[in-house]
Amino acid sequence: MNPQEKLKKYFKENRESIKNEMVDLITKMVAEKTVNVVSEKLSEHPYLKFRGEEYRVGNIVKKFLSEIDVKYDEFSRMEGRPNIIGGIGKNKSGKRLLMPAHMDIVPAGEGWDTDPFEVVEKDGMLYGRGTLDNKGPLVSILLAAKIMKKLELDQEIDGQLMIAALADEEAEDPDGIDYGIGYLMDEALIDPTWAIIPDIGENMKGIDIAEKGRTVFKIKSKGKQAHGSTPELGINAVFMMAKLVAEIEKMKFDYDVHDVLGHPSLNLGEIHGGAAPNIVPGTCEIILDIRTVPGMTKEKVIGQLQKCIDKVENGKFEINVMAWNEPHAINPDNEIVDVIKKYTKDIIGVEPKAFGMGGGTYAKTLNMKNVLAVGFGPGDDTAFHVENEYVEIDQLIDFSLLTLLIAFDLLK
Ligand SMILES: [Zn+2]
Repeated sequence: MNPQEKLKKYFKENRESIKNEMVDLITKMVAEKTVNVVSEKLSEHPYLKFRGEEYRVGNIVKKFLSEIDVKYDEFSRMEGRPNIIGGIGKNKSGKRLLMPAHMDIVPAGEGWDTDPFEVVEKDGMLYGRGTLDNKGPLVSILLAAKIMKKLELDQEIDGQLMIAALADEEAEDPDGIDYGIGYLMDEALIDPTWAIIPDIGENMKGIDIAEKGRTVFKIKSKGKQAHGSTPELGINAVFMMAKLVAEIEKMKFDYDVHDVLGHPSLNLGEIHGGAAPNIVPGTCEIILDIRTVPGMTKEKVIGQLQKCIDKVENGKFEINVMAWNEPHAINPDNEIVDVIKKYTKDIIGVEPKAFGMGGGTYAKTLNMKNVLAVGFGPGDDTAFHVENEYVEIDQLIDFSLLTLLIAFDLLK
């Protein structure tokens, strides 16, 4: 029997015990509040000493890897925010497949039917913050490693399967300092050949091969303060901004429709201005979230915003680029998309389709560093970052098996 047949047989015969072990491990991880918010919002979460506190889940991961005798590296830009990477396979200098999941979560938010940090199993689903995003998939990957060791198949892997539990995916401070994948790649601490990021939903029916560029612009209008009873002595920065906002709403981007990503998008997400009814506001600010498609350069987008500004008579504005990352799109004709399609069709009966997303994952950071990375994994895309987050246990088990089948194909 070849390794893949052995694995399929093992999963068939041991589904119940795999399930129980998964539920147990996910329950432990979800109980740890590894909430990651921007520093500005930290005080809203008094149980946190610092953002993320990923060490809480990291300790569970390290204990698990030690127990199954998988060696791991630990890289932390800051104490308490570890990235843990276990390696399986006989040849470290061969090809390397990275399977990373993140240990941090978004806050629970409101509207839950049950305690978000206490996993509830109901009708084949697990409910709780992080069950899908991303602790459930993390446990799928860990269990895959355990089963590989148990069946003594690890020595049949040429190259390395990298089992990774990472920090800092859910929030980014304005300083741009990254404690997770960005840190690992910038410092060249890991060097994978391929990566599969199980953080997109799509119920394993989609393969994320392209992501729009996420950019954030702040535009400030500059007026002149005056007493509210004598507005003619000032220049009202809010009225000035209102004219610009009307122009921006009408603005049509200059771009070519991308065959996977389609059109860019623009959201006016924030507006701030004015201090009191009896003061003519001296400044007003808007914050725009623009998702770009390939071909849209920073200069081009700024140029278009500038054109809107030029239409505002006597307007005085300042544009600031708060965040800029490039869109990426990889050619879907590649070995990783092929193996994902092949084994997924075999296991769940549906061949996943390549598609593009407006949101961003680790795949972008990795592709920017020339690692062939795609998003693929369990869960429904509507269950991310909402109340009553859930994941289907069967999907987690199937994903665990798929991780192994794919690894054996790519790393044989
Ligand atoms: Zn996530």
